[in-house]
Amino acid sequence: MARLIEELRKLPGIGSKTAQRLAFHVLRSPGEDAERLSEAIREIKKHLRLCSICNNITDVDPCGYCTSATRNQRLVCVVEEPTNIATIEKTRSYNGVYHVLHGTLSPIGGVGPEQLRIANLLTRVAEGADRSGIDEVILATSPTTEGEATAFYISAELHKTSSAVKVTRIATGVPAGSDIEYADEVTMMRSLEGRREF
Ligand code: ZN
Repeated sequence: MARLIEELRKLPGIGSKTAQRLAFHVLRSPGEDAERLSEAIREIKKHLRLCSICNNITDVDPCGYCTSATRNQRLVCVVEEPTNIATIEKTRSYNGVYHVLHGTLSPIGGVGPEQLRIANLLTRVAEGADRSGIDEVILATSPTTEGEATAFYISAELHKTSSAVKVTRIATGVPAGSDIEYADEVTMMRSLEGRREF
């Protein structure tokens, strides 16, 4: 019991109380449920990984977006989380590829540039610059304080890396202070279309 509580406590947003409650729930639930849960955890680690190019969650590396011949590989949209890709895909107005940061800069939360997947974006752009491979990087982080700080940081790094790449920021059709995860398709489409040089 202590072992399970200890493991659950390592999950984000789970404190001691919740970990205990979850552990007791598992204890009381049918054997098959617990089996399915542990199998789902084992399977995700066995079959899913992060794409070595864009950091999206994928079962094949590189992922489907990065190897797609019909998508514009010269246009890269930078998002905070893999779930943000679905929000942008729903607009059906974006045909470029992605780069997932897995978070935003947060001095208070102890998240610095090293904790985010920024390094391989810069490598992508630097390598692309030689083969003139990437034309534009769209910074589609949320218009929150952290999202803006992250966009500013990446923009500065990109300009240092390549003078050829165009850096743009989505328009604030996404309500200020909100997360792009909750943006509807129309809002998201307008904010992509209204992007400006950054
Ligand atoms: Zn990829």
